[in-house]
Amino acid sequence: MDLTNKIALVTGGSQGIGKAVCLKLAQLGANIAVNYIDFGNNKAIAEETQKELEALGVKAMIVSADVSSFEDTEKMFAEVMEKFGRIDILVNNAGITKDNLMMRMKEADFDAVINVNLKGTWNCMKHVTRIMMKQKYGKIISMASVVGVMGNAGQVNYSASKAGVIGMTMSLARELASRGINVNAVAPGFIQTDMTAVLSDEVKADLAKNIPLGTLGTVEDVANTVAFLASDESKYITGQVIHVDGGMAM
Ligand code: NAP
Repeated sequence: MDLTNKIALVTGGSQGIGKAVCLKLAQLGANIAVNYIDFGNNKAIAEETQKELEALGVKAMIVSADVSSFEDTEKMFAEVMEKFGRIDILVNNAGITKDNLMMRMKEADFDAVINVNLKGTWNCMKHVTRIMMKQKYGKIISMASVVGVMGNAGQVNYSASKAGVIGMTMSLARELASRGINVNAVAPGFIQTDMTAVLSDEVKADLAKNIPLGTLGTVEDVANTVAFLASDESKYITGQVIHVDGGMAM
């Protein structure tokens, strides 16, 4: 796969799965815009990721935006266009959880998760559509989740947001198919990240029992799939949800 001189914007790209995606796309030659949300130490973390990307010999920029804000995301796309002049690949990766059983879930927990995961993905899809239609080329890849397909107790808000991402992906794929734009989603299962690192070995072993391939996935497993969907090797694939979950959802 070769992404030389392609321009990719990855939301929530400075850490976790997003960072692995940035590194993989850069290894394949893409120049990268790393989105982060300007809060606490996040700018320094994003700058560290930028340095790692530049060390791979590509161009990289960092761009702050809260993806749940239409205005923020509009500015973010303008900044990336000013620096790079085009956007070939958009990876909607930014996401949050606010888990609780329905009996205890607050309205604010539902709204926050929908605003970042679903509205945030819509905001970015909305702004990039005009850009990619003019280019007559683009790859839009959004991070869904196994729980958007199977559900999960304690994640009514999160699973609704990810099921929504899947529905938007299929609808937008139909709208943009004739314009040379592929729109797909990746649905990770349990992936080893900071989120799952805090779990005890016992809990991890328990989780693994429900995974046919028997182990948690890695951020590289997800990044490799995103890279395939970002490349022209997947040019005949659109409107699909690729599961990276060790076989959980089959
Ligand atoms: P993560 O480490 O928490 O990364 C999420 C990134 O999104 C962080 O950099 C975060 O920044 C950023 N972000 C959060 N809210 C944002 C906002 N409003 N605007 C811009 N950026 C924002 O989580 P991850 O595990 O890598 O997950 C990445 C994606 O994969 C998410 O969409 C997640 O739902 C999905 N996923 C993960 C798993 C898993 O097992 N890890 C499984 C299925 C799906 P801050 O840290 O500063 O908030």
